[in-house]
Amino acid sequence: MAAKGDGKRQTVEVPGVDADGNDIVRQLSVSNLDKVLWPDGTTKAAFINYFVTVAPVMLPHLVDRPVTLKRYPDGVDGQSFFEKRCPPHKPDWLTTTPLPKRGTGRWGRPKPEEERRKLRPGEREDMVDHCNLTDTAALVWVANLAALELHVTMGRAPDPEVPRAVVFDLDPGAPADVVTCAQVAMLLREVFDRLGLTAVPKTSGGKGLQLYVPLNHDGVTYDDTSDFSRDVAQLLERVHPELVIATQTKSERVGKVLIDWYQNTLTKTTVCVYSPRARERPTVSTPLTWDEVADGADGGDADALRFRMDDVVARVREHGDLFASVAELEQELPRLA
Ligand code: ATP
Ligand code: MN
Repeated sequence: MAAKGDGKRQTVEVPGVDADGNDIVRQLSVSNLDKVLWPDGTTKAAFINYFVTVAPVMLPHLVDRPVTLKRYPDGVDGQSFFEKRCPPHKPDWLTTTPLPKRGTGRWGRPKPEEERRKLRPGEREDMVDHCNLTDTAALVWVANLAALELHVTMGRAPDPEVPRAVVFDLDPGAPADVVTCAQVAMLLREVFDRLGLTAVPKTSGGKGLQLYVPLNHDGVTYDDTSDFSRDVAQLLERVHPELVIATQTKSERVGKVLIDWYQNTLTKTTVCVYSPRARERPTVSTPLTWDEVADGADGGDADALRFRMDDVVARVREHGDLFASVAELEQELPRLA
């Protein structure tokens, strides 16, 4: 990335891909590059550089996925908001994917100001146009908006109603922690092994872990993935009631891990792999090897399962994209009932 200009705003040249798939260079205006976004001193410039560096491994997981931006205009310690609607001042080349406004989940409700807003030409009242982040330039554009976290659905355009993977979000209830999540992940892996399914682990970049079972074919619905994930979660709750809970009641989670299967709906999002999190330090949702999960479960070292932007850049250099199969591997879900 080459930067031009002085002061608060400058123009940068960033690799992009045009609508025909050709490599091009895009010019973008970015501002306040020295602004500190994370309390540990990480600046907007460092954030933009991180995205430019990981773009080759991150974009395959972002392209065609309706994205929800979590923006922190004044950094982690300031106000933040989830932005599902792609900002109106987006560059012309950035495309969008509509998703129904009223999801089945808690986050599907429109805000009152959204309901009053005038519709743009061609926009439908019951739909929300989400940004598609298709190239490095798009990543730099959202980084410049201080979208510290990128959240995506399991579906992708042009068929967002087809889930491309099943997600299991493992949420520890203190004093359970990421090590307890790793133990539960190993139990889940046993189940997947018996079913002949490959699952891929990542940290959430927050407190827990997430497992993805890649599907990547058209013959599957959210009803299928939701039923499957519920059945697996409830099975583990029955077999390991001291460790696992399959319902979202917070009070019952103490010392256990919630296997949150409720994420498997059309409009629910999960943090995108390689997205940083708006926490004390720029921890990243990081793909793991199963050996690392097994070591975490055995050794009990929570720090070994926590990675920041710099760590992730080094890991990508060493391993490439440990999450690649989530975007590629085709698997059929077995019928459990
Ligand atoms: P942790 O490991 O700390 O639980 P997480 O990212 O898994 O981190 P959760 O609270 O378990 O956080 O939420 C799971 C996912 O649901 C998030 O990654 C995010 O995509 C989505 N989500 C959570 N809260 C909201 C919200 N208020 N609005 C929109 N999406 C949300
Ligand atoms: Mn979670």
